[in-house]
Amino acid sequence: MGEIICQTCDSTIEHFEDEKVTKLYADKCPNCSNHNVEQK
Ligand SMILES: [Zn+2]
Repeated sequence: MGEIICQTCDSTIEHFEDEKVTKLYADKCPNCSNHNVEQK
């Protein structure tokens, strides 16, 4: 099983079928896209 992970908040966005365990990083999940990340 594969996972798509948000690079910004490190949470799992989505699961997808895969033969092996795979982690793909997406730039932003919908939650992070809606709310601008605090700039520090
Ligand atoms: Zn996020």
